[in-house]
Amino acid sequence: MRIEELKGVGKVRLKALERAGIARTEQLLWRYPKDYLNYDDRTAVGELHSGQRAVFLARVKKTSTARVNGLTLTYATVFDETGEISCVWFNQPYRARSLEIGATLLFVGLITRAKGTLRAQCPQVLPAETHGIEPVYPPIPDVPPRTYLGWVKQAWELGGVDLTDPLPERLRRQFSLPPFASALYALHFPQSLDALAAALRRQSFEDLLLFRICMKQLRARAGMGRALKANMTVIQPFVDALPYRLTGAQERVLLQALSDLESDVPMARLVEGDVGCGKTVIAFALLYCAFENGCQSAMMAPTEVLAHQHYLEAKRLLEPLGVRVRRLTGAVKGAERRETLAALQSGEADVVIGTHALIVESVQYKNLGVIVTDEQHRFGVRQRTALERKGRLAPHVLVMSATPIPRTMALVLYGDLDISIVDELPPGRKEVKTRIVPEAKRAGMYGFLLEAVKRGQQAYVVCPLVEESEMMDAASASETVQQMRKAMPGVRIELMHGRMKSEEKERVLGAFAAHEADILVSTTVIEVGVNVPNATVMVVEDAERFGLAQLHQLRGRVGRGDQQSWCFLMADPSERMRTMASTSDGFIIAKKDLELRGPGEMMGTRQSGMVEESVLRLAGDAVLMKQVEQAVESVFAQPENEENRALMQYARREMENRGLVVSRN
Ligand code: ADP
Ligand code: MG
Repeated sequence: MRIEELKGVGKVRLKALERAGIARTEQLLWRYPKDYLNYDDRTAVGELHSGQRAVFLARVKKTSTARVNGLTLTYATVFDETGEISCVWFNQPYRARSLEIGATLLFVGLITRAKGTLRAQCPQVLPAETHGIEPVYPPIPDVPPRTYLGWVKQAWELGGVDLTDPLPERLRRQFSLPPFASALYALHFPQSLDALAAALRRQSFEDLLLFRICMKQLRARAGMGRALKANMTVIQPFVDALPYRLTGAQERVLLQALSDLESDVPMARLVEGDVGCGKTVIAFALLYCAFENGCQSAMMAPTEVLAHQHYLEAKRLLEPLGVRVRRLTGAVKGAERRETLAALQSGEADVVIGTHALIVESVQYKNLGVIVTDEQHRFGVRQRTALERKGRLAPHVLVMSATPIPRTMALVLYGDLDISIVDELPPGRKEVKTRIVPEAKRAGMYGFLLEAVKRGQQAYVVCPLVEESEMMDAASASETVQQMRKAMPGVRIELMHGRMKSEEKERVLGAFAAHEADILVSTTVIEVGVNVPNATVMVVEDAERFGLAQLHQLRGRVGRGDQQSWCFLMADPSERMRTMASTSDGFIIAKKDLELRGPGEMMGTRQSGMVEESVLRLAGDAVLMKQVEQAVESVFAQPENEENRALMQYARREMENRGLVVSRN
């Protein structure tokens, strides 16, 4: 039914829905909640902690407003018998009026730490008697969440939706999955935690199953590749020119990849390895190998900053050997862009390094033979398959991931890839010493920073991101800078945050790399791959807000030179923080992260359409993952079976509709 049939959809909201790609009522039901709120799962104010998305009941003690940098900030102090907390909203001047002093209300929002104290960031305020489980949909600008919720109800009542179950009953029974229609109902209108859990399990099972079936089919049809002459002798000039010797692990993985290149079945290999293990040079060796074989190669990084860094490094290592290296990112414009595009098409460029810009339609390659994508977890399978389509013969693909994931999980996530693990760090690397620093010891930590700077070393300070508000992040990062400038006069401190233009970020990062700044304060934009060996201290503000795997990534930014390096986690001691302090093994940390996030987080994050997300959420559920594999096997064991054929077709169509894969033809 057309969306304007719904009550409450006027002109303005119709436009808003259209912009979000919603034109028919059925579509509301295909848009799944990204999260759920359980209003009955309340936390006492005294028990709130940073990073928590909390529901708490409290009384209003006082309110105030202030204007800062053109923002209107509204504050409220609220309390219960266990403690009090301050809430802040910005640009909602009506808030103060709606918060009656003495009223008891239900607050729902993210708890953060600002200048050492906890506060609730822009919480929703609801009547105290609110109960039950409510879905949270991905927001649509100009549509209040409550209004949207009402429409979903209406859409369900209107019906007219195809509720045919895509899963054969055989599988449903074997793996105790609820039928499609009742699962769909429970996802939108959860009546109990049990019903929701069953629906989510079915959903994950289905997502994963379709994804795996689709991947297996794609791999089978990947088509002919081009066999290259690829062995250690071919790349010897490159290896000889390196300023160091490859580690045993690097050499082993390189040999595996080279032997892939020798075959006309295109390589599809994942290289996993802890931060700093030296994956980049393996990639460059393959780019060099492509060059020796007279074909082009591309390397795709997830951010401008990282692409630029790889570009500089590639120029340094490859250009002396006669390789013509170009870069292509969103920031490359005008004449340089035109020249690069022309050079890629004519074959005058051998290697191109860039970002998503590499995969847009207008980029044409003469003979693309090898593709490397770095830090794959940032790219969906979609981008990968899109780039793979760029070659006339299917190119060889190497995917590098710095998120160490347990092997079983890698098999599921990257089931279409062969896996190599670089399990050795270059020699002479000292372990980064990690300490938990409670707020009370901040001054001491600044003292330590100052000493390091005096010795000529550099430091990173990372502030967490609040996804709701880049503005708040930029503001709180600037606060940190001010605080530090006061505490350490004369020290050169630069700020980098997500709201900056990419040229600006590049300038700041360049200055830091050139040691024109001693300390770089930033939001998590430095997370991936940045390499400044002289940086020996990493401070993570409000560390509790980060995932362990993310902290591990951040910590990997230091300890890259031969100096002893340090990582300070600004937080109170907790099991998570202690794990970080006690090990530097990324695989152990990843496992712990999954274990600790457990079922709570499982109810927490649900992103429709993102297979990676739903898989990660389930990674603790090894049983379910095994079951999915069993199901996949049973489907491929009888490909001629009518039901199985239908399921395979459905899987491809569905993955394409969701934009997760791009078909080759
Ligand atoms: P990652 O695997 O995290 O991407 P990088 O490729 O950025 O790691 O490598 C980290 C650092 O280690 C770089 O400075 C690189 O030059 C250096 N490096 C890589 N391999 C070796 C090696 N075999 N010996 C010494 N240093 C190495
Ligand atoms: Mg890297």
